[in-house]
Amino acid sequence: MRYAETGFNLEIDLTRGNIERVATDPKDTEQYLGGLGTNAKIMWDRVGPEVEAFSPENLLIFASGMLCGTPATGCNRTIVTTLSPQTKLMHFSMMGGFFAPELKYAGYDKVILRGKSPDLVYLWIKDDTVEIRDASHLKGKGSNETAVLLREELNEPKAQVAAIGLAGENRVFFASIEQGRSSASRGGIGAVMGDKGVKAIVVRGTKDVHVAKPAEFIEECNQVQEYIKFRQDNPIPGVIPILAFLGSPQEMMIHDEKWHTENFSWGNSRVRRRDFWNEEIAADWEETLDTSRTRMLSCYNCPLKCGASLNMPGLPTYMMKCFTKLTYTMAAFSNLDFGLTIAQKATEYGVDGYSAPQVMAFALELLENGILTDADFEGMPEGNEERFFWMLDRIVRREGIGDVLADGTHWAAEKIGNGAEEYAHNNIKKHEQLPLKLGMLNPIYFLMYCTGEKINITQIEGQFPQAPFPKREHREKFVKDWFQVPDDKFKQYFLDWELRGENSMPYYPTVQMTCEIVDWMEKMHYIDDALGMCAGVSSFHLKPPYHIHNYPKFITYGAGIEMDEEKLTHAVKRYRTLVRANNIRRGMRRKDEQPPKDHWKKRIPELEKELLDTYYAFKGWNEDGIPTKESLKELGLDYVAEEFIDRGILKDA
Ligand code: SF4
Repeated sequence: MRYAETGFNLEIDLTRGNIERVATDPKDTEQYLGGLGTNAKIMWDRVGPEVEAFSPENLLIFASGMLCGTPATGCNRTIVTTLSPQTKLMHFSMMGGFFAPELKYAGYDKVILRGKSPDLVYLWIKDDTVEIRDASHLKGKGSNETAVLLREELNEPKAQVAAIGLAGENRVFFASIEQGRSSASRGGIGAVMGDKGVKAIVVRGTKDVHVAKPAEFIEECNQVQEYIKFRQDNPIPGVIPILAFLGSPQEMMIHDEKWHTENFSWGNSRVRRRDFWNEEIAADWEETLDTSRTRMLSCYNCPLKCGASLNMPGLPTYMMKCFTKLTYTMAAFSNLDFGLTIAQKATEYGVDGYSAPQVMAFALELLENGILTDADFEGMPEGNEERFFWMLDRIVRREGIGDVLADGTHWAAEKIGNGAEEYAHNNIKKHEQLPLKLGMLNPIYFLMYCTGEKINITQIEGQFPQAPFPKREHREKFVKDWFQVPDDKFKQYFLDWELRGENSMPYYPTVQMTCEIVDWMEKMHYIDDALGMCAGVSSFHLKPPYHIHNYPKFITYGAGIEMDEEKLTHAVKRYRTLVRANNIRRGMRRKDEQPPKDHWKKRIPELEKELLDTYYAFKGWNEDGIPTKESLKELGLDYVAEEFIDRGILKDA
């Protein structure tokens, strides 16, 4: 019997309309865990470097994390993996909500889509019954609207629906997949779903998921729940509110936006407004949020309520969490009312809340600087906010200038030319990032920005404080109950970290320490992505309830795979390297691993070179960022080494 996982994937060939229930090899789970780990293996085996995002051979995988569907608190992530049209690399984007556990209860670990449907369809999965159904009546419908219509049509109010909006149907490179209380937004994975002709996947499951040692497993779950309560009752002093408590950044709960609005950049990530926040704005924004927020919402089996349902005047209710609260507002130099109103439309259209506002602000900057002209924006209204609504409509329909902008800032700039590239200035690996521009190089963030393959900094950072605490006594207090560290040396690194002087940034933490810190952070995120755990109760946070010391127990008691810290670390390294191998095979190299040029005003090229050289060596990668033959073999990835040699990526000697 398989534990935690069901042991079956659904393989759907959309070209032929063929549906298969395929038993999976438990040895793969031992080697790569579930979720992202086994997704990376499938992508390696079946999606070669000649395949493009919109090729029929590209796969679109909806994977339920290994522990989803068990009682593990906060474990509900669906890991969607495919080739991104924007980065042209293997991409993985996570969504919370309820989809992944429901899929497990229907009896499947993954839904793997290949080929392309000639007509728009949706998939209906109810336990053993799986159907490809006509979705022509849903063409052009919003993502939430689609979910409502399908639940009604199927008479299944409890079904979970992952759907695309108009942006996905029209293959906008930053189209998202929306799902009730969450979305998988990054990398344009919604465009791949649209390209495959799939409007939605509807799932309803009524089966059980078994765990190997129920009593021991529940005991671990209870400890996590108690610790969550403790952490919420005892916020960490001296850090920003989103890190003091647990959960995905609790944007829908808080009113004080001084920190974000004065530290993050406005417009096309250009302008810092250091004196923006005042009493009048605070009162206005508080009223907007209080009158529009109807209730706080949680994902499956989580007490933290990070999201909220919002009801803007005259518009259908929608759900929001996290930083999208501010991205549209800040891109348009507007107010919260505008941001929450346009976000409702954007959610129905299904676009990424980081990319879409920046793309529109980028377009206006090109217009202001004469690179685009009024002729490109014929019919655009004059009002500031109206211009954003107008552009959003053009983008998701790929009409006029919207067709160019729909490819994201990198590809749009390349098409527009005439110096437009300089304005696409906030990308990593061709993908728009959070609008942040800072002063002095931060070595930890430098490495995360360069080498992260999640293409989203909030999905890489966590565990180690973002900045030193000013007084040693505060640091001593912080490390006292810091039992989550994989090694006590991290406590010392933090204790000795000063705001000024010899032990301050950018030369402290030292290069070696920085490598160890970044590796720890990354490891925890990759574990979450295989198990299906939300980063809001794990890797994103300081002192989280899940950590390297209790995760092996969850795997042992949950999945019945004997696990310890060393074995887990080795497994994570294996599939993390396999993710990289997929992208190396697609041409990713050191030249692609850079933060946005102007992310920090003060850059230090020789230190940056040393950081990257040392980190590559630390990870077992050569100077070009390619995993070496020796490190691949040590991880049991001999087949990768062989293919790299065959393709001339590595030399045999
Ligand atoms: S922490 Fe927040 S985002 Fe994460 S599972 Fe819980 S409610 Fe969802």
